[in-house]
Parts: sequence; C-alpha cells; structure tokens
Amino acid sequence: MTYVIGHKNPDTDAIVSSIVNSHIRKSLGDVHAKPIKLGEINNETKFVLDYWKAEEPELTTFLEEGTEVALVDHNESSQSIDNIENLKIISIIDHHKFNLQTSEPLHILALPLGSTASILAEMMLSENIEISKQHAGLLISAIISDTLFFRSPTTTEKDKEICQKLNQIAQIEDLEKYSLEMFNAKSDLGDMDIQKIITLDYKEFNISNKKIGVGVMETTNPAYGLNRKEEIIANMQQIKKDTNLDHMLFCIVDILAEKNIGIAADQEDINFFKECYQTSESNNEIDLKNFVSRKKQLIPALENFLN
Ligand code: MG
Ligand code: MG
Ligand code: MG
Repeated sequence: MTYVIGHKNPDTDAIVSSIVNSHIRKSLGDVHAKPIKLGEINNETKFVLDYWKAEEPELTTFLEEGTEVALVDHNESSQSIDNIENLKIISIIDHHKFNLQTSEPLHILALPLGSTASILAEMMLSENIEISKQHAGLLISAIISDTLFFRSPTTTEKDKEICQKLNQIAQIEDLEKYSLEMFNAKSDLGDMDIQKIITLDYKEFNISNKKIGVGVMETTNPAYGLNRKEEIIANMQQIKKDTNLDHMLFCIVDILAEKNIGIAADQEDINFFKECYQTSESNNEIDLKNFVSRKKQLIPALENFLN
C-alpha cells in the first residue's frame, strides 16, 4: 500500500494532488495507492470537492514504520506526517524549495510551477494518461487556489497554458467567476475558533537554526481578520510559547487587492519582521506590501535576512 500524502494544514493543492497522484500511480501499476490527508480541509477545498463530487481523503496522522509514502506539495519533514523519519518515501512531486535528506534513492519530480497540480497535469498530458472531467476540474481548482487565479508571482505561463488545456475537458464556463466562488468559500470563516484560523494555512520553517512559524489567511474580506487582531495576537503568543518558536508571523492577504498585512505575536517580532522586510508598522499591522507569496517572497526574504 502506498499512501499519497499532502502537507499538514492541507490546502486545495495538497488535497487535489494527493487524489490525482493516487489515480496516476494506480494507472501506472501501483494499484493500492491511496490518498490521505493530515488534517481537516479548509472551506475552499470543501467547496471544490463538493463541486466536482470528489471523495475527501481519509484523515490519517500515523502510519506503521516502513510504510511506503509518496509526498505531494511538500518535502520538508516539519510539514509532513509526524513519524515521516520512520517511513519509506518512494516519491516526491513538489513545487517548493527543497530541504530534505533521504536514506534511500527515490523518484523526485520538482518544477518551479505555480502548483503541484500543474506538474501532475503536465505529466498526464505528456504521458497520455486520460484526464477525467472531475480530475480536470480538481486540477484547475488547485492551480487557481495556489496562484490566486494567476495573481501570485509564483504564476508561470505554463500554469495558464495547462489551465486552458484542462478546461477543454472540465468546461468551466467562466473561470474568473468560478475563482471568486472558491475565494469567497475560503473567506467564509463564520465564528471559527481563532487558533484554527491561524493554523488553517500554517507552516513551520527551520532557517539558520531558527524555528519560524508563518500562517497565511488568504481572503476577499481582510476586515474579518483585522477586526479580530487582539484575539489573534493573544493566540499567537500562546502558539509561539507552546511550540518553541523563535519568530511567528500571521499574514492577512487580500487576494483581490493583492496586499498583505502582517501580524506579529509581540514587539520583538514586530521589530524583527519590520527589519527583515524593510517596512513600517502601525497598530501592530506590519505593511507587507504586495508580498502575497510565502514561498516566493516571504520565506526567501527571511532566508536572505538570517543568512
Ligand atoms: Mg500547498
Ligand atoms: Mg502547492
Ligand atoms: Mg497557498
């Protein structure tokens, strides 16, 4: 049995990639490939799975030692299943920077595209693996999600091209309208618990021996987050303490205006991130300008600053 795993605090790309890569593996002979998720899915992913009538992967947080796993949309152990060190990684398909050491040779496919879904779609198209309407729709959704409908600087021409090809199968009439429906679903957080909001799209990084947590809230309604700023800060202080972080940042990304406002847990972190991003702050709101991509903007700047 191969388990196909996306990262913790799964986003649409992680879930879709685990579903579609399981299908690819099956069609190439790994008949027992099975997608799993490492945490609850967000409202955008829920919308997408409902829309395309796709089955949600099973929640699994522990696998027996030696189990074979195929990773998608991540490669860092801090973002994977807890006992990843004891599992056998047979494949990684990803579009993030690499930070891993493996004990055995494995299959790695990494491309600097806007989503892991783009890599999978490219693979299916070039290897003539049939793409169902459902999978085309799921892959388009993951591309839209990760690239913020082609607004993020992570977007490449290839992503747009692949999306167009996929839409010949999925037949979404108005892609922009569909993207708004996805983003509105993601922004509809109701009275969700603050800790959950902070960790919905949250990743830990080890940079120059510092443990740094960066959470992102991509939304069409930034006021929702800003109105709960005090609660967010109090919760961040708790998370920072509980998980022994050196620094922690929470970003409220306005998808449509392409703007980012950062919230830090304490004054020390406000100063740290202000210096790192060479920017200003007022009322605990750090102006992160148009830095909407954690992968391509926020983390590289942190690495430059700390190295
Ligand atoms: Mg992801
Ligand atoms: Mg991704
Ligand atoms: Mg994302």
